[in-house]
Amino acid sequence: MSKFLLVKCECGSESVVFGDSKTDVFCSACGNEMVKASGGRAKINCKVEKVLG
Ligand SMILES: [Zn+2]
Repeated sequence: MSKFLLVKCECGSESVVFGDSKTDVFCSACGNEMVKASGGRAKINCKVEKVLG
């Protein structure tokens, strides 16, 4: 999934993340771990609102 994704945290904050992110991404509002890097494909721990391509 090497695409940019618009993800939405449980707290309602939206972020744009890379689907193959090599680093963990945390919500800037509440600190929830939104994306977990796992070598290859990143694991998305929140709702994907939109695939930006
Ligand atoms: Zn949040």
